[in-house]
Amino acid sequence: MLKTFFSVLLISVSIFANAQSLNEKEKQIVKYINDHLEDSKKILIESVNINSGTLNKEGVKKVGEVFAKELVKSGLTVEWISLPDSLKRAGHLVASRKGKKGKKLFLIGHLDTVFEPDMPENPWTILNDSTATGQGANDMKGGDVIIIAALQALQNFHLLDDATIVAYFTGDEERAGTPTSISRKDFIERAKQCDIALGFEGAQGLHSIATARRGSSSWKLNVTASTFHSSGVFKYGYGAIYESARILNEFREQLSTEKYLTFNPGLIVGGADVKYDPTKASAQSIGKDNIVSPACYVSGDLRFITEIQKENARKKMQEIVSHSLKGTKAEIKFSDGIPAMEPTDGNNKLLKILDKATRDMGIGETIAGDPGSRGAGDISYVAKYVDCIDGLGASGNGAHAPGETINLKEFPYLIQRAAILIYRLIQEN
Ligand SMILES: [Zn+2]
Repeated sequence: MLKTFFSVLLISVSIFANAQSLNEKEKQIVKYINDHLEDSKKILIESVNINSGTLNKEGVKKVGEVFAKELVKSGLTVEWISLPDSLKRAGHLVASRKGKKGKKLFLIGHLDTVFEPDMPENPWTILNDSTATGQGANDMKGGDVIIIAALQALQNFHLLDDATIVAYFTGDEERAGTPTSISRKDFIERAKQCDIALGFEGAQGLHSIATARRGSSSWKLNVTASTFHSSGVFKYGYGAIYESARILNEFREQLSTEKYLTFNPGLIVGGADVKYDPTKASAQSIGKDNIVSPACYVSGDLRFITEIQKENARKKMQEIVSHSLKGTKAEIKFSDGIPAMEPTDGNNKLLKILDKATRDMGIGETIAGDPGSRGAGDISYVAKYVDCIDGLGASGNGAHAPGETINLKEFPYLIQRAAILIYRLIQEN
């Protein structure tokens, strides 16, 4: 099976070989990557076969050890960043080197996956000549190995000498330890000392990249109302359930067509006696058809592409909430989650550099993907301090679902793409 896997890779590698307009050094980098694909795949298989669900601290650390060993080979110094016990998270792996040449790069990966040990096992399995499955193969151990393989190739030709690289692998990307002011403190501080952040979350094929990602936040709507016999509804007041329905419907009517803005009520509970437990996201209610409801509670999210869009949406929602129906009173509270990675000129400049690289490699153009198709990610915490692009990782399908896959045919090109991009950026001043 192994042999078939690599002969297919080599055939597909040669398809593009003629179209390349890389310089001699870059051609050597590509060749080195192709010659060492088997080593890269071994690291991937080893890491995928270690369960590293975010809450499995031991597993996350073990994946960190596997990667640390490889990063040392690229001439980087590795450190483990511990977090206070109260956060119940493993911590982060950081590999870095300092120099005076070129752009200072902050490369982002994560060690954890959404699959905790009590979920069904999914060891590395080759499904066909172009696809394999395994926990985190796509999100994002594949992307982590792309970082490692690219750095090892560059180090082999001493191309990292005098460059500044920080490769940061968080241990809790899928469920960040809270408060994030602690779990992301070191991450943000180190990114601030760099010029560019490159995120290696899942790629959407070979031809697109994320220059923007939406941020996420939440809201809680609390409605109270006077209560009386249902025969008096409309005349004496509308009750909390009608008022909540009015508010949600007006949210939808007034805001649902705005590009990149979404808000989803995820839980609603109303009646005569309402109990809500935010830590468990669960609620209980007792109500009768002949009682006008005195209480209703709704909890939802709000996703946005810029801070301005978020603030404007909040203002409109607040305004809608304030127009209370007779006999009711409503209050909405917003809280911040992950900021947006806003589309900026700096990010677009990075897209152009990558587009040139993929054209020179002979794999064609690279365009900006749809920000609406991505959730929030670690890169968003640092997007306001540095230029960034994300989606440089492995391609595949079904991230976060059992049986997620990695595209093995595209994997070598994605390593090459990362290496050429890093090589060109550390030469830019
Ligand atoms: Zn991820």
